[in-house]
Amino acid sequence: MKRDYYEVLGVSRDAADDALKKAYRRLAMKHHPDRNPGDATAEETFKEANEAYEVLSDADKRAIYDKYGHEGLARGGAGGGGFGGGAGFSDIFGDVFSDIFGAAGGRGGPRRGSDLRYLMELSLEQAAFGTEETIRIPSWHDCDSCHGHGTADGKKPGTCSTCRGNGKVRVQQGFFVMQQTCPHCRGRGTQVSDPCRSCRGAGKVQKEKTLEVKVPAGVDTGDRIRLTGEGEPGDTAGMPGDLYVQINVKPHPFFEREGNDLYSSVPVSMVTAALGGELQVPTLTGRATLKIPEGTQTGKTFRLRGMGVKSVRGAGQGDLLCNVRVETPVRLSKRQRELLAQLGATLDDDGARHSPETTTWLDKAKRFFEEHLKP
Ligand SMILES: [Zn+2]
Ligand SMILES: [Zn+2]
Repeated sequence: MKRDYYEVLGVSRDAADDALKKAYRRLAMKHHPDRNPGDATAEETFKEANEAYEVLSDADKRAIYDKYGHEGLARGGAGGGGFGGGAGFSDIFGDVFSDIFGAAGGRGGPRRGSDLRYLMELSLEQAAFGTEETIRIPSWHDCDSCHGHGTADGKKPGTCSTCRGNGKVRVQQGFFVMQQTCPHCRGRGTQVSDPCRSCRGAGKVQKEKTLEVKVPAGVDTGDRIRLTGEGEPGDTAGMPGDLYVQINVKPHPFFEREGNDLYSSVPVSMVTAALGGELQVPTLTGRATLKIPEGTQTGKTFRLRGMGVKSVRGAGQGDLLCNVRVETPVRLSKRQRELLAQLGATLDDDGARHSPETTTWLDKAKRFFEEHLKP
């Protein structure tokens, strides 16, 4: 039983595109295989989220899904099983899914080729600065053995005896005579009596095609790059489908991305936090100096302007936000304990001055106990 796509992404049925993308991004990051190595459940969830987003982020597919559910999307699929179901492609090429949906055009006339989806994994740096990636996708080529004719001798095939080469046949239906695609040659008008053994008479063989994909700076998980006409070829007169490169940005050891801003958690020693100092923090390009002022508290965020991600839409650049976490020293020696205790005693002499927050809190707590704990 397939789960409802809205349920998978955890959004309401009227969720806007922004909300969809945000929900998808959150799931993709959380269940990313890099973050959950060897966890089959996470991988399943990751795939499920990809599929749900693929459908709901496309207005046409979403409309069909809303109306007919999973059934509607699987309809017309040759291999059955809906997205990614076309056994051949997804088995051989891993992350390319045959999107049967694009092929569900009208019967008879020229059929447009299916759209393909390619899941592209990028590091945060690649996504932030843009990159050029070479991808390999399945494509059909004329068979070398028969020069695309599908015949064992490689010569042009003979004329179909059923339709005499028209590709269409007339059928009587009640009073009407109707034209139909020839069932014998499927509209080709030709007939192969001795099929080529390399391609089994199809005239085409599947190979890999190499494509250069220009990824613009600033892309994020959920963004898609459309390569027009690079999907599966259509029937004789049909247009080829498109290839959609769907971006997935891998988790980064230092940064969490939110829009064009980057967030980084920075541990600071108790002493540096109290006395002030400087820290070298990682940035997308290398490092930057972060000035820690005297008396810095946990939770304080410092903004390094322009050190985030460049907007994919051209204007603007995000910031790097460093969130400071003061680290309490652990595994102290006897001498260190004594020093700290001495320091503590001097601080206690004038607590309100050195620990204003604690003092205020203690006062409040005292009043609370008095009011609530009295009989
Ligand atoms: Zn052949
Ligand atoms: Zn025919």
